[in-house]
Amino acid sequence: MLDDFKRMLATYQYSTFTSAYFDSENYRKFRSFLLDNLPTANVTFQNIHLCSYKEVKQVGREIVEKHTENIDIKVPYTFENELASEVIAKFGLKPDENKIDEIITYIKNKMELKKVTDVPVFTNINAPRNGCTCIDWIYDNNDISYYQKIPIILNAISLQGPSDDFSKGIYVHEMYHALTQRNKGFTKNYLYTETLPIFMEQVTVLDIDESLIPAALLKRIISIKKNVIELTYNSFNEDNIQNITSPQNYILSCLLAINLFNIYLHSSNKGKNEINSEINKILMGNKTLEEVLDKYEITPEKGASLVKKKIKTLK
Ligand SMILES: [Zn+2]
Repeated sequence: MLDDFKRMLATYQYSTFTSAYFDSENYRKFRSFLLDNLPTANVTFQNIHLCSYKEVKQVGREIVEKHTENIDIKVPYTFENELASEVIAKFGLKPDENKIDEIITYIKNKMELKKVTDVPVFTNINAPRNGCTCIDWIYDNNDISYYQKIPIILNAISLQGPSDDFSKGIYVHEMYHALTQRNKGFTKNYLYTETLPIFMEQVTVLDIDESLIPAALLKRIISIKKNVIELTYNSFNEDNIQNITSPQNYILSCLLAINLFNIYLHSSNKGKNEINSEINKILMGNKTLEEVLDKYEITPEKGASLVKKKIKTLK
């Protein structure tokens, strides 16, 4: 059986999941700085307003529409297991390997295309804070070429935890996962995949209330520290590659997103629009994430020094 990690790499067509940053002296220094200086105690975020999930959805959709400039992007979608059950009814539970192309064509013809803002949102206010873009592989099999060929088909977006200003950013974050993933290969590196969603989370905060930016940044810095601790522990104790790459993904993507957001925040309106339109090129499949990061000279080292500066102001 294909393991989950191989299946994920094949589906999204990530050709790498490593970064020299984690072997660098820069990373070791950053890790020590974080462990020595950032308090582990629970931080309370005082200016964050509670609101209804209705408002979270409305504001999230408005922000995505504004930043995508209403370009007509639709994402593959199926309602619950409707498409999966149809495929299984037609091709059986264990179809022949030589049927793969026929199955993929069938799926492509039968899947719906939906605006990302119309994809159903499931919420659970009593669970710990989390967001998820739920995708449907239709059926499990051993053939890697099936996963390379199948479109990324959404079932739903799920939002968990309190409904407040932060949840609006999380909803936008999840919609940007859906929007980027639809172009397989928008980035070659699995470790970069949280960059645009985390960046858009910060942009959302700027759009709704500029005074919340320090809190949103601090929240992300605390999550970097959590991931650094997890990565350090797992590097000694785990041989499951996903338990190493998942915290690395959040650390690296967060640093890149913080660097990009800092440029965005200090840009004129013209500069902001330009960054926005570069991101829309990624969504349309006209540029890769790496090309846009190169254009603005975004690096994890620059992100790390912004984090250090921010932590020093906390003392
Ligand atoms: Zn994410």
